[in-house]
Amino acid sequence: MKVLAESMTLPFISDGILVEIMKVLAEAEVSYLSPFFRAGKRTWNIAGTAEVLLKCNFTHLIYENHEDIMPGGRARRLFQRCCEVGNLEAVYFEGLRLAIHSVDINLGIEMLVRNDKGHGKSTLAAAFFAICSGDREQASVLFKSFSANHGGLVSEKARFLGNEIKWDIVMLNPPGLDTYMETFSYPDDDVVYLPECADDHVFPHECHLCYMYSCALEVCGML
Ligand SMILES: [Zn+2]
Repeated sequence: MKVLAESMTLPFISDGILVEIMKVLAEAEVSYLSPFFRAGKRTWNIAGTAEVLLKCNFTHLIYENHEDIMPGGRARRLFQRCCEVGNLEAVYFEGLRLAIHSVDINLGIEMLVRNDKGHGKSTLAAAFFAICSGDREQASVLFKSFSANHGGLVSEKARFLGNEIKWDIVMLNPPGLDTYMETFSYPDDDVVYLPECADDHVFPHECHLCYMYSCALEVCGML
């Protein structure tokens, strides 16, 4: 990587090619951009363009040490710039962080809703947090939005994304105090409601029908 970054200073490599190289590397893992930020002003400027920032993948970084993207963390400034340009994954993790670690879970929901329609995990996570906060009407709206844009709540994909959300929350070191136990409120309308099997299927859980309820309960327990 060091050799590659040094070669980037050569004048015969155009900005356009550098952007394409950086987009591929950033999408694989944001830390691959580090040599470009260090190599000089030209590559630093290119690495900081919206085109590249939109591609930055923070998952590996956060899984290794979530403190890096927290306030005061070594990648916080870059992470915030990615949020500002609308990087879906950065906005998603910032939404989780706010819901878990700020004093107001609604700040997290507001951040996650920015990704609505374009990022299924954000929509589902926002629904779980709305359930925790006691706003089951908003949770229902979010669940319906997920259904319309990401293939339905009763599906393998929904379960896969739900499991990813739980794991992502674990990686952000939640307090695990069941803070919202008293306000937990699952939607109950004509479209989204608690299936009859929910009480029987919580532990262990293999049922598509009541998976979202089980997942929301687990998320609530982690906060
Ligand atoms: Zn069930």
